[in-house]
Amino acid sequence: MLQRRSECLMEFCDKCGAMMVPTTEDDGSRVLKCRSCGHTKKIKGRLTVSQNIEKTPRDKIIVVEDDSIPMPVTKETCPKCGNTDAYYWTLQTRRGDEGATEFYRCTECKHTWRRY
Ligand SMILES: [Zn+2]
Ligand SMILES: [Zn+2]
Repeated sequence: MLQRRSECLMEFCDKCGAMMVPTTEDDGSRVLKCRSCGHTKKIKGRLTVSQNIEKTPRDKIIVVEDDSIPMPVTKETCPKCGNTDAYYWTLQTRRGDEGATEFYRCTECKHTWRRY
């Protein structure tokens, strides 16, 4: 069965239209926070986080299932099928001293991988 899903992190603020980033509140709930005005909204079912957060925080991958947002494509070779086009996005980890992690997703086989 063909999967029609794309993964990406982009959400936009209802108030000012700036890009929102996923963040974790003090109570552990996941929200999206506007970088510009600080407006937050609850993450709904579309956003899922892999469940290995306790063990390896840096393995957490945030996935938004939404076909409506175009993903930037870069020249990156897929380690699985050898295709040279991949969608990419970055994710700033919760700890400020760690750099942003780059994620890639093959445009052909949908294999997703990351680079530190
Ligand atoms: Zn805003
Ligand atoms: Zn591939």
